[in-house]
Parts: sequence; C-alpha cells; structure tokens
Amino acid sequence: MRVIVFSTKPYDRQFLESANTSFNHDLTFLEARLTLETVELVKGYDCVCAFVNDQLNSEVLEILANYGVQTIALRCAGFNNVDLAVAQQRGLKVVRVPAYSPYAVAEHTAGLVLMLNRNLHRAYSRVRDGNFALSGLLGFDLHGRTVGVIGMGQIGQVFAKIMSGFGCRVIAYDKYPNQQCREHGIEFVDLPKLFAESDIISLHCPLTPDTQHMINAATIAQMKRGVMIINTSRGAVIDTQAVIRGLKSGQIGHLGLDVYEEEADVFFEDLSNEVIPDDALSRLLTFPNVVVTGHQAFFTKDALTCIAETTLQNITSIEQLGTCKNEIKR
Ligand code: NAD
Repeated sequence: MRVIVFSTKPYDRQFLESANTSFNHDLTFLEARLTLETVELVKGYDCVCAFVNDQLNSEVLEILANYGVQTIALRCAGFNNVDLAVAQQRGLKVVRVPAYSPYAVAEHTAGLVLMLNRNLHRAYSRVRDGNFALSGLLGFDLHGRTVGVIGMGQIGQVFAKIMSGFGCRVIAYDKYPNQQCREHGIEFVDLPKLFAESDIISLHCPLTPDTQHMINAATIAQMKRGVMIINTSRGAVIDTQAVIRGLKSGQIGHLGLDVYEEEADVFFEDLSNEVIPDDALSRLLTFPNVVVTGHQAFFTKDALTCIAETTLQNITSIEQLGTCKNEIKR
C-alpha cells in the first residue's frame, strides 16, 4: 500500500524501514502531525499511519475519506484520538497495535515510583553538584505499602506483579474485572476503597468519557494525605489544575507523569532553547516532588520493533484480506 506516515521521528523511520523489508509497502515519512492544516498531504495515499497526538477527529476523517484513504494504521494501543463513529460511517478501517510491550510501560511506571519514593531525581543532580548531604531526600519503604491500580489490563497486570515483588499489597479497580486476575490473587475493590486505602495510585485505564478527569478535586479529596499518583495512561485522565492544587496543599505527596492532557504541542519536541508555552506544565515542573517524562514509557527497542512489525502486518492484512484481527470496531 501507499502509506503516509505522520509524526515521524528518526527512530520511527529506522524501525519501520527495517521491518518493511519483509512487507514492501511504499512508505512516505513526514515529521508533521496530522491536523486539519496538514491533511491535504494525504492526497494519493491509501493508508495513513498515525501516532498518539495526530488528530483523527470527524473533520479530518471526512477529508481522508473524500481523498480515498481506506486504512488508518495507528502505531499505538490507545485510540482516544480517533472519532470511531465517523470512521465507521465513512468506511475507514482503523487498526492499532493492541499489545507491544506491556513490560516497557509497566517498568517505566515502576521507575517513576522508585524515583519519587527515594528522591532519585534530586539526588542525581545534587551529587553531580558535589552536594552529598541527605537532608530533603528522606524516602519511604515500598514494602508493606498499598498500591492501587486503576485499569488491570495488560500493563496494569505487569505493573501489579512488579509491585507485588517489592512486597506491596496490590488492590485494583477495573470497569470489567478479569476473572484470571482474581484467581491470581488480585483484590478488586471499588474506586472509593481504592482511593481511601492506597499509598500509591497508578493509572492504566484507557482515556474514555468515563475516565476523563477521573482524578479530580473530589477524588483527590478521598485519597490518603501525601498519596503518590502515577499516570502513564493518557493525560486527560487527570484534571491538571486539581492536581496542582493537591500538590500545593500537600494532599498529593508525589506525582509522576509520563502523559499530560495538553501534551500534543510540547511532547516529542526539543524545546530546550525556547520558553515552554504551557503554564500548567511549567508549574508542575517547579515542584520538587513531581517527575515528568515526555510520553516515553513505550520507548524501548523491544517495543519499537514490535510496533513497526505489527503496524505493517496490520496494513498487509487489510490489503490482502480486507480484514485484520487488530481492527478497532465500535
Ligand atoms: P488494556 O486494554 O489491556 O487495559 C486497559 C484496562 O482498563 C482494561 O482491563 C479495561 O477493562 C480497563 N478499563 C476500561 N475502562 C475503564 C474504566 N472506566 N475504569 C477502569 N478501568 C477501565 O490496555 P493496556 O495495554 O494495559 O494500556 C492501558 C493504557 O495505557 C492505554 O489505553 C494507553 O492509553 C496507555 N498507554 C500508554 C503508553 C505510554 O507510552 N505512556 C503506552 C501504551 C499504552
């Protein structure tokens, strides 16, 4: 297929080109994000390959369909950026990479927990500056603490195992609790109980109308004082302003973010010589007890290899069979 690949970074190109030796699609790489302004570039292509911050809203999808695009190949798991109703109405097939490496994301999540509970981010720069004092670096043991996992899917399950390995008690909330997890000893609880009992809360649910701003002023108030919140799912699961207020009051003791609700204009870009245009993000970066990474949790060689292979296989399946096991249907 003639495939136009949006939001390409050098590493995307490297892994897709390498995998494409087995598939032979005609790939064109663009650095630009897919938006209403760039959608024009799609003319003449059969397939659009898109990532987390590309815009696949109704207006863009209508134009894609009018240009004769048949397939949208997401090279990610989440699909909250796609208007599936319009895609289906216009006969656009949407495929994704439902699982590449839950380990990549779960391990990064555990990394954020360890960084925050032992102040490793501060220790790192302090020691490099010749300051070996320990004041201000006091941490807490993970052993015996309660970890609340929201969304016990592939990533949530791996994260739960890792945290169990530290001797944590893991409790979970999932809209559709999985029987296998129950059999493996995971204790499913309702959200108020999870909020009330967890020392660490980690978000692993998709972004849906149900989960948008699930972490807000009212739910933060139900949490233990000094709670650690980690979000490696999607930014808008957290109401950023409510979390900033929670940090200022001390209700939230630690915050680890790999995703941010307004990340689209900032993440994946080098703004080191510029003024960060987002005031809420800038405020978050001033807290000593906040660590932000730029949507990096998926970023391992293993995951990128799997993403590239699955994306191209998905496109081949649609081309040859008209169907694909990774097609998203409403
Ligand atoms: P998954 O589909 O395996 O698991 C999601 C779980 O959330 C499921 O068990 C589902 O039942 C549950 N869920 C659905 N609605 C819910 C609700 N309202 N409340 C609570 N739970 C709910 O997905 P996954 O592979 O584990 O990925 C989870 C999320 O992580 C993805 O949706 C994606 O947004 C995010 N993600 C982030 C990165 C990153 O680099 N930061 C990478 C991959 C995935």
